[in-house]
Parts: sequence; structure tokens; C-alpha cells
Amino acid sequence: MAQKWVYFFGDGKAEGGGKMKELLGGKGANLAEMTAIGLPVPPGFTLTTEVCTAFYANDRQYPDGLTEAVAENLRRVEELMGRRFGDADNPLLVSVRSGARASMPGMMDTVLNLGLNDRTVQGLIAESGDARFAYDAYRRFIQMYGNVVMGMHGEVLGDILDGYKEDRGYKLDTELTTDDLKQLVGLFKSKVHEELGHPFPEDPQEQLWGAIGAVFGSWMNHRAITYRKLNSIPAEWGTAVNVQSMVFGNMGDDCATGVAFTRNPSTGEKIFFGEFLVNAQGEDVVAGIRTPQPINKAQGDGSLPSMEEVLPECYAQLMQIQEILEKHYHDMQDIEFTIEKHKLYMLQTRNGKRTARAALKVAVDMVDEGLIDQEEAVMRVTPQQLDQLLHPSIDPKAAKDFIARGLPASPGAASGSIVFTAEEAEELAKAKLKVILVRVETSPEDIHGMHAAQGILTARGGMTSHAAVVARGMGKCCVTGCGDIRIDRQAETFTVPDGRTFRKGDVITLDGSTGEVMAGAVPMVQPAMTGDFARLMTWVDDYRRLKVRTNADTPQDAAVARRFGAEGIGLCRTEHMFFEAERIMAVREMILADDSYGREKALAKILPMQKGDFKGIFSEMKDLPVTIRLLDPPLHEFLPQDDAEIAELAATMKVPEQVLKAKVAALEEVNPMLGHRGCRLGVSFPEIYDMQVRAIMEAACELIKEDGFDIVPEIMIPLVGHVNELTLLKQNATRIADAVCSRYGVEVDYLIGTMIELPRAALTADQIAQEAEFFSFGTNDLTQTTFGLSRDDAGKFLPFYVEKELLPVDPFVALDQDGVGQLVRMGTEKGRSVRPKLKVGICGEHGGEPSSVAFCHRIGLDYVSCSPYRVPIARLAAAQAALADDC
Ligand code: ADP
Ligand code: MG
Ligand code: MG
Repeated sequence: MAQKWVYFFGDGKAEGGGKMKELLGGKGANLAEMTAIGLPVPPGFTLTTEVCTAFYANDRQYPDGLTEAVAENLRRVEELMGRRFGDADNPLLVSVRSGARASMPGMMDTVLNLGLNDRTVQGLIAESGDARFAYDAYRRFIQMYGNVVMGMHGEVLGDILDGYKEDRGYKLDTELTTDDLKQLVGLFKSKVHEELGHPFPEDPQEQLWGAIGAVFGSWMNHRAITYRKLNSIPAEWGTAVNVQSMVFGNMGDDCATGVAFTRNPSTGEKIFFGEFLVNAQGEDVVAGIRTPQPINKAQGDGSLPSMEEVLPECYAQLMQIQEILEKHYHDMQDIEFTIEKHKLYMLQTRNGKRTARAALKVAVDMVDEGLIDQEEAVMRVTPQQLDQLLHPSIDPKAAKDFIARGLPASPGAASGSIVFTAEEAEELAKAKLKVILVRVETSPEDIHGMHAAQGILTARGGMTSHAAVVARGMGKCCVTGCGDIRIDRQAETFTVPDGRTFRKGDVITLDGSTGEVMAGAVPMVQPAMTGDFARLMTWVDDYRRLKVRTNADTPQDAAVARRFGAEGIGLCRTEHMFFEAERIMAVREMILADDSYGREKALAKILPMQKGDFKGIFSEMKDLPVTIRLLDPPLHEFLPQDDAEIAELAATMKVPEQVLKAKVAALEEVNPMLGHRGCRLGVSFPEIYDMQVRAIMEAACELIKEDGFDIVPEIMIPLVGHVNELTLLKQNATRIADAVCSRYGVEVDYLIGTMIELPRAALTADQIAQEAEFFSFGTNDLTQTTFGLSRDDAGKFLPFYVEKELLPVDPFVALDQDGVGQLVRMGTEKGRSVRPKLKVGICGEHGGEPSSVAFCHRIGLDYVSCSPYRVPIARLAAAQAALADDC
């Protein structure tokens, strides 16, 4: 059988359905689904994503049979509508709409009112009895088609319209008369001809195929490619094209168009939420040209009448439909609708984008409502969304200098320097500066700048404007419709109602949850895990197998991590304890000492302080395991570098400056990352590790004695490459540890293990496991050493690798599963072949990155360890990985 390229929907029947997103794209599949469940959807048909794939595979040629299939489906639509495409008396008009598998807001362009020309417009007039409407539809069509299909710059025809209005002293489009619109149609057409050198196409078939070609063509435009990159959507998916008969929301005051969410997409509250405009078409609501009205009385400040009041029957019907949709899809829906002369039509539904807060609330509420089960709820919230909830918000106690207020379009808070263009936002963000992107309104061209900014502020646009939708999707704080600010693009400033002017570079703070804009950087508070968040996390813990520990060097960090559910410390670094002001002198003395006697003398000063640190951390973690890594960095890092500091130290230590300088110079290394560090320090200066082990064990013994805690210290020796290193250092550590225990008369179940962070260690993990009682994969260093790539220098070239797709992601962000990951897998297997119960975890940035966590789950690690604020994210990622196993 020949391949089916086109799927029909209309009159309660559809050839496709909601499960066919891959083939029909999200929009097409849902139009079919809505049709099939009996909702009012204007009939139409969908050219499949396979057409797109075939188109690109075949040098931009359509596959055989497509032309015939489109003609056949168009005939079916004509029959249902009782109109003919291109007919002068009773013309069928259509929209041509793109629709990829995953929704790509604003990426693809829709053409409305297609099929109009100088002849068919007469038919539309005769039939609607409204010449103004007909010419308005016609000029909109030329504008959209000229831009989207013919590639004219959007502003060219827009400028003609603006100029025309200005000449006549009009403010609103609605002031244009029939005659004006007719004239504009003529002006537009001559402009198109003049700019492009060929006339605007009169033939509806040519128009149709032009639009279809433009949609398929736009799959490979710059904006679409950028969006796909940012959202990891493969180019092979392709887009579908939907051709659908037009309904009109702009035929008078009994017509309207709108967009709505079945629940509030910012907060998740179960309140039908949306905006609409009377006598308007298509994108008017989101374009920010007119201020949209609230959909019901529950919203808005009452200054604009709601749809509930203006069109009560339609509102009641829409309420019913939104309920049907939620029950059908078991998820919050984002819908688009149009009312033509009191008759409601559904034009789109999809799972609504929502803030993290809303995602959480909707998931938990839907469990309570019986719409989904707990497992589904756990799968519904993404780790990225939790990440947002773990972002700071404005400190309620902070003094705030309000300058303006807009709409709370996407929650969270952000401070940064003002920039007015996406390009600047991107540039400054590259230089690690925090910026707030300030625009009159945003468009798809701004996406890269929005991505780079901490927050977005727009002067125009509603809760469903481009800026709002995209920011919510990105989890960026955003304030829209802030009419309080007057932007002067030339001067690169904006002024606020109290008369102050803010310039490019000035710092402001946005609160996306309230819509407030403040001068300066306002203090923020850290998030807490309560309410819905806490409930979801208890479900999460029911499903995960992987344990989640934290990387914490201080009791404060440990306390935060415990509140976020950490089940132990996977990495406690000891070097920071050496850096504190009162200690650094003793540390330097130790490093610069000539012999082990001198070192021991200095170390004796450090011992009580280290012991205190460990006691603090152990008391915070109580019975939970704590892995402490012995000193790791090269000693050179602790020494003063400039002359003044060296002079000061020389004076304190009573040694000649020159001698000290020579010592500092002698400790300098060509390649410190691979130099005298890690267990190599322990081998050459055993006193250091001896002191640290003593401090750990004394702290443990004292707490066990005093408080009865069941403390299990895990002593971790870093950078082992050969089992002999570990054999020696373990002997030393055991000797010290046992001596401390017998001195205190306490039994401590301490463990001595190692970090696996060199390829050789992974390759010989079976030998190392003879000695090591646990493994912790230090995937930061293991990535450096496996790639032979210094992280500190990678900034100069790694971004190009990612940009050019030589690497799918930065391997320091997401674990390189094919390379580094194989070493982790092999090391684990080899280790457990010798010591079956060997406890294995990873520490390092990857421990809190969802795809890496899933990998650790799959290869059977015992735990991941990550920074405190990422603990909930790792817990969720671990649960989702476990649930993914089951399906
Ligand atoms: P997007 O993917 O950008 O949302 P759509 O294809 O949904 O683009 O089109 C945008 C808007 O155009 C819709 O929300 C709707 O208001 C209007 N529209 C699209 N098709 C039709 C149609 N057949 N009749 C009336 N309005 C339409
Ligand atoms: Mg659009
Ligand atoms: Mg849409």
C-alpha cells in the first residue's frame, strides 16, 4: 500500500488521534483527538511529519502522491463546509499551521485567511455581508503571507499600516474603515511587487503550496534550530502541517478569540485561567497590540469585563469543554479557541507549560482528585522544575525600593544589570555578568537573549504573551505588561512613574511572583521544602533505590542538606578547613617546615581545630554516614603568592624573605592537576594524613562517648592510581585509628576507602578493592583524566565542541556515559568482583545532574552525592530512573 501522507479530521471523525503525535505533530494529533471526542473543531487535514522528513531527505522535493492526497482532503473539507477553495461566490478559506511533535512556541508561523484574492474577497463580502471584515481579513492575509511565506521583513507592511493610520490620526486598527482597508490591500500588494519583483500570488493553489512549503522550510530556520538545540529536540523529528478551515473571531462583537489554561499556570490553582479579545483574530491576544480581557470574574481587577460576563453561554460551554479535556488528557491543558457569531470552536489543546510551582501543585492536586496516581505525579515534575523551586526568592524582610509594577508572568526573583537587546544579554552573560533583559515585548528572535538573562521585563504583553510563555518554559523570572516603564531605545534608558531614569548597566531586581520591579539588588531568601513539595518528595522516596548523599564541608551545609533529605555526606573536603584565617598561618608553617619535626609541630596546632570541624559535622549528621576526604590539593595552593604577603609571613615565621621566596618557588608545579597532590602528599608527608585521621577518630570517639551517636566515619584517600599507594596509606591510617580507639576505649566501625578518579584506578579496581572498603568515583577528576583535559583551561575550547556538536554536552556538566561512564561501570564491577558488598557512590558535579543520576541508577551504584541544593533533584531523578526501569 502506498504511504499515507495526509490525515483528515472533521465532523466528529478523525483518521488520526492523540496517540499519533510522532506522525501528526502535537497540534495535528490533538485536533484529531478533539474532533473524535466530539468537540467543535473546524475540519481540516494534517500533512504528516514523514512528509517533512521525506522532503529534506529528497533535496526538498515532496514525496509522490502528496499532491493528490492534499487535493482529495481539500475536497472533503469543501464538502463538509459547503464551500469551495478559490470559489468567487462561496470561498473556503483555510489556515496553514505548523505543528511539531513537541510544542515549539513561536518557532513556526501560521498563515490565516488563505485563499483570499481579488475575486474571492467579493464572495466573502457577499456571504458575510460585511465588507470591512472581508477587507480586514484580506489585508491580514497579505501581511502574514508576505512575511511568513514570501520572506518580506515583518516591519515593511506593518510600517505602511502604521503610516496610514498616523496620516489619518487613527490610534486603533478598529478605526480603519472599509475603504481604508481596501486601499491598504492595494498598497500592500504594490509594496510586495516592488520589494520582491513579482506580484502577490492570486491563485489559491499557489498560495496553499507556498504556505505548506514555508512551514516545512521553517523547520530548518535559525530560530527553530536554536530552540531545538536548547531543548534537545532532534532535527529528524520534522514538523507536520495542518490545513484547517477558517472560523472568524473578527466578524463583530458577537465574535472573539482567546487562549486559556485549565488551571493557573503560575500557581497551579484549579481555576480556569485565560484571556480573550472581542472581535479579534488569531494572534491578536498574544501579540500585545490590544490589552486582552480576563476570561472570568475570578481574574483581573474588574476594570475590563470578562468573557463570563460578555459572552456567558459561550463561557459556560468553554467551561464544560475544558473539564472534558482535563479528564481526557489527565493533565492541565493550554487551549486556543475562537467564537464566530456566538458559536465556539476549539482550535488547539496541548499540555500546558507551567511554572515549577504549578507543576508541583497540579501533580499533587491531580492525585487527590483521582486523575493520576502517585507514580504518575512523580514522573510529571521534572528535575529542572524542582531546581527552580530551590531557587531563592525575595527576602520578605528586605527593604525594597519599588520603581514599577507589571504582571507576575513567571515566578522567582532575579537581580541584574539592565540590557535592552538580546545580543547584549548574551554577550554580558558570556562574561559571567547577571543581566535583566528589558524589552517592549519579546519575539522569537530574542530567545537566545532570554536564555542568557537572569530575568525578563517587558513593557507590553499579557500573561500569555511570548515573553511570559517562553520564560515560564525556561524557568526564568519574568514580569510582563509593565506599562509603568517608558523605554527609550535610542538613549538606552527607561523612566518610571516617579521620574527616575534607569540606564543600561544599572542594577534592578524583578519579582516574577508579584510583578514588582525594584531598584538595586534586593536580598533573597533560600527556599524551604514544605507543603506540596514535601508530599511529592515522600512519594519520590518510595520509588527510588539509589541513595542520595551530599557534598558538604561545613555543619551549615550539612544542615541544609539534611533538610533537603540527604542520607549522608558523600564528600567532605578538608582543605577549606585549612584556609580559614586563624589556621592558614599554621598550615603555611607546616608546609614550609624543613623536616617532619617542624611539620608535626605546626600540625599539632591544626589538630584541635580539625577535630572541632569534624565534631560539628558528625553532630549534624548523627547516625548517617560521613565520608571525609584527606587533604587533596597541591600544597602550593596554600602559600602566599605576592611579595607583600610573603614578607608578612617571613616576619611572622622569623625567616629571611629570600628563603621563603625560594621555598614558594620550589613548590610551584608545571601541571599541578597531575602533580604533587592527593595520596602523593600522604606518601611524602605522612604526618599530614596522620593528623587528619587522628582528628577524625578523636571526634568520633568523643561523640560516641558523650552523645551515644552511632558514628561511622568513612576515611577516603584521594587520587590513588596504584593499589600499593592505598596499601601503605591504609596501614598508616589503621594504625592511628586503632590507637585512638583504644586510647578512648571505644569501638568505632570506621571504613577506609578510596576515590576512583584516575583511569588506572578504574582499570585495576579489582586490585584496589582488596584494600578499599568503599569506592567513591570522583567524576570531576575522572573526566579530566579520562579526556586528558584540564577543566581550568577548558573554557577556551570546550564551548566550541558543544556548539559544533563534537560533544553532545559539556562532560563536566553531564557525565560522559560512553567514556567516563564506562570506567565507572567497569570499576564498580571489578571492585565488587572482589568485595561483593563494596559500597560505591559518585561525588562531583554529576551527582546532582539528572541524566548522570539515571546512569548511576542503571549501573547499580549505591548512592550519588551532590551539593545540598541539588539533593531533592537527585532524589527525584533517582525515582524517575527507577520508575523508568519498570516500564
Ligand atoms: P501557534 O502554534 O503559534 O499557536 P497556531 O497555528 O495555533 O499557531 O495559530 C495561531 C492562532 O491562529 C490560533 O490560536 C488561532 O487563534 C488562529 N487560528 C489558527 N487556525 C485558525 C482557524 N482555522 N480559524 C481561526 N483561527 C485560526
Ligand atoms: Mg505563533
Ligand atoms: Mg496555537
